[in-house]
Amino acid sequence: MSLIAASVAAVALSASAASAIVIERSKPQPPVAGVPNFTGEVSVSSRFQRAGPARVGGGVVRFARGARTAWHTHPLGQTLFVTVGVGHVQKWGGPVEEIRPGDVVWIPPGVKHWHGATPWSGMTHIAVSEAREGKSVEWLEPVAD
Ligand code: MN
Repeated sequence: MSLIAASVAAVALSASAASAIVIERSKPQPPVAGVPNFTGEVSVSSRFQRAGPARVGGGVVRFARGARTAWHTHPLGQTLFVTVGVGHVQKWGGPVEEIRPGDVVWIPPGVKHWHGATPWSGMTHIAVSEAREGKSVEWLEPVAD
């Protein structure tokens, strides 16, 4: 165990539950088909949703080539941090825009949109959104080919 890890463990042991540092260990998973509200093969890992009064939640979403979300909205908006591959994002009625690693994408509250991989490359992004009354997404219809 590294010195830093040992320190973190000691801090966690000595603190009360509310003030403990929480380490949720990585559980990598390959993309699979049939995930509700997604088309194609996707995986969602490192999911998080903090208890109130915090509102933040999200996860790492990995899209295989051609995979994408359904149309949807976020009541308090969403930020996407692209980490791998080449992806697409589109607002209802707007152009399909390309997104690449290092790009930070802001989806304003209530804006109907989708995001996913391109037909020729997979894409991974970290998705972060805040919940309003416990809800951070409103799912709509699938995105047509
Ligand atoms: Mn979204």
